[in-house]
Amino acid sequence: MCIRDSCDTGQVFNVGGNAFVLLVKVSDRLALHERIDAIQQAMTPVFELQNFSLHINVQMGIAWYPEHDRSGTKLLEMAGAALHPAQLKGLPMLEYDDSMFRTTVERLELINGLNNAIRENELVLHYQPKLDIARGIVTEVEALVRWQHPQYGMVPPDKFISLAEQTGFIHELTLWVLDTVLQQYRRWRDEESIVLPIAVNVSAESLRTPEFFDVVESALERNSLSADAICLEVTESVVVDNPQAAIAILDRFQHKGIRLAVDDYGTGYSSLAQLQQLPVNELKIDKAFVTNLTSRQADQVIVKSTIEMAHALGLGVVAEGIEDAASLEWLQRHGCDTAQGYFICRPVPADELVEWLRQSHYHDRRPRLVNAE
Ligand code: C2E
Ligand code: MG
Ligand code: MG
Repeated sequence: MCIRDSCDTGQVFNVGGNAFVLLVKVSDRLALHERIDAIQQAMTPVFELQNFSLHINVQMGIAWYPEHDRSGTKLLEMAGAALHPAQLKGLPMLEYDDSMFRTTVERLELINGLNNAIRENELVLHYQPKLDIARGIVTEVEALVRWQHPQYGMVPPDKFISLAEQTGFIHELTLWVLDTVLQQYRRWRDEESIVLPIAVNVSAESLRTPEFFDVVESALERNSLSADAICLEVTESVVVDNPQAAIAILDRFQHKGIRLAVDDYGTGYSSLAQLQQLPVNELKIDKAFVTNLTSRQADQVIVKSTIEMAHALGLGVVAEGIEDAASLEWLQRHGCDTAQGYFICRPVPADELVEWLRQSHYHDRRPRLVNAE
């Protein structure tokens, strides 16, 4: 919060977890920006804590006294409303404006509703096939969560996953996704004779909790399934934030025989050296590089070199976001292993996926051994 006055050193309050309120008096906007620069600079060095290197990233939402409001509570809400879009856009700071208020109300309603979403049966999983390009058959599907909200209709995950991460609800959500996926795997296997491993997206927040490995292991046991029923998709950020810790936890999954994929590859800042150390099976090239593949030369260069580099490291490559035949054909020519995208099939509810598989020439109809587990 900023009070327009002659400069003082300000007061800092911790308002829970990693959230702080800074109360400063500044004479004008220029002085405020100088203050923000100073805070950012003070946080730039890497802090060494026992065996960990801490990179601290500061993002701020700003509300002015008395222009925005005179009440402390209101000013806090406004600063919070400005902080959220700053976090989403990766900006160091944003000042409050009235358009942020509506988004905040919606956001608060979503946060409130999330706690009941599982109990009220409002979460659903859709499944999108992953196509083995060389063999021309679907070898896996990815589970993608949606929220059938009583007021807002079908809410996509981009609107609520980050809220779930911020409020801690993500752990309950991940557990629900895991259990639902494993039950679905059994239903397809037992009722349709379809054996399809299912990929589950795992937030960095879930992966970082020490008990996450046990959560996955007991979900498999509870459903009497072995490790090959699932694949875990983790984002690059997991690796960048704390490579050593990421390697340690991924190693446990690898030893258990659970396949691992690095999702959204190319959007984070992981280096080749970091990737090389990772015990993962495949790289998923982010759709940003794939959707316009045939018209953008730069994307072709990136995708081609990623395929070569990943293969040299012994990793499989998945391209996501394929929207036309020409892109699929291009990827096949350049040795990409797996394809995923609207051109093949959109994410669909479980029953529709079975229908799609039955009608599609991508379904492997050869008799299969169904393991009775
Ligand atoms: P993701 O894991 O990278 O999933 C791929 C996203 O791309 C999905 O969006 C999918 O619907 C979309 N997509 C697939 N093919 C195409 C295409 O050809 N063109 C375009 N434009 N898009 C395509 P969706 O379902 O909205 O999910 C967004 C993100 O939300 C996911 O990205 C994932 O990071 C996250 N998410 C989804 N379900 C879960 C979940 O159960 N847990 C967690 N932690 N995150 C999830
Ligand atoms: Mg994914
Ligand atoms: Mg992705």
